[in-house]
Amino acid sequence: MRRCSALLISLMLAISAQANDASSPPSKPIKQASASAKEEASAPKEKEKETRKSSKEKESKESKDAAKDAMAADELAVKIAERLALLRKEKDDVARASTRAVARSPAYVAPVRKVTPAKPKEGNEHGSSAIIAAMGGHGAVHWSYDGEGGPTNWGKLNSANAKCDIGDRQSPIDIRDGIRVDLEPINFDYKPSGFNVIDNGHTIQVNVAAGNYISIMGRNYELLQFHFHKPSEERVNGRSFDMVVHLVHKDADGKLAVVAVLLERGKAQNIVQQIWNNLPLEKNLALAAPTAIDINQLLPEKRDYYTYMGSLTTPPCSEEVLWMVMKETVEISSEQIAIFGRLYPMNARPLQKTAGRLIKESR
Ligand SMILES: [Zn+2]
Repeated sequence: MRRCSALLISLMLAISAQANDASSPPSKPIKQASASAKEEASAPKEKEKETRKSSKEKESKESKDAAKDAMAADELAVKIAERLALLRKEKDDVARASTRAVARSPAYVAPVRKVTPAKPKEGNEHGSSAIIAAMGGHGAVHWSYDGEGGPTNWGKLNSANAKCDIGDRQSPIDIRDGIRVDLEPINFDYKPSGFNVIDNGHTIQVNVAAGNYISIMGRNYELLQFHFHKPSEERVNGRSFDMVVHLVHKDADGKLAVVAVLLERGKAQNIVQQIWNNLPLEKNLALAAPTAIDINQLLPEKRDYYTYMGSLTTPPCSEEVLWMVMKETVEISSEQIAIFGRLYPMNARPLQKTAGRLIKESR
């Protein structure tokens, strides 16, 4: 390709040189002009006129030729540009075809089809519907936490992700300067539940059976799934934490509410161990666990929290998500952090602008 471009560029240079020649006084007309000058000395006026006329005709013919040459050069330049564009397109097509080949390979698609989430996928942060949508894109780059599919490009990967770029109530944020008030307690109604674990390519997610709720501000939200980030996506007064678990809930109107529990290095957590014990060997293949999980174990003793309106922290970055970040952290052992770190060393979206949003906190 480079050699080909070099050839085309030298061809372009040769052509432009030719075009320049055509616009500067050509050597041939000078000779002709001196010849006609000799004739002029001996010729009668009529002939002189004729000579001038034919000289003018010649000049106009030559300028026409020059224009023609210039046009030909332009056309050639256009053709070269077209050819270059074609070569580039061919190269891109080859790259796309190989991406599509990967996306179409059974190993890549089939496991996703086999996924049987315990709850509806719509609106799920990290939901498998988002994976399928991203994979179904026209050879689109899959979103990730670095490189071409990284957070700064999420909005450009798919028009459905526009909010990631243009949204003004995005998450995560650095939680600070909250208004201290008597916040209504979150009423947690979690019970031991069946669950499955999926490594969806962005995080480890736990899909739970129906029947787990929170109620807040007169609304009932059902727990759909929870998942982990390393390090914590949200910060509190600029401070980041080892990990965070996001419990994603949805109410009957489809409104989302996420409870975030910040995880700090300390003693091991039973519930985390139970999830890690059931890690599936393959990505995008949900593994049903043989025992029930008690999600209450994930919650801190003290239930004070920060709250603000934000978004999903993954594409499509949908807004109008009610966030409740627990003030008290929960411990998790170094070994448990390390296990997650082997799969996802970094899966946190960068901080987003608070942009004057109101943050409230329990006092
Ligand atoms: Zn999350």
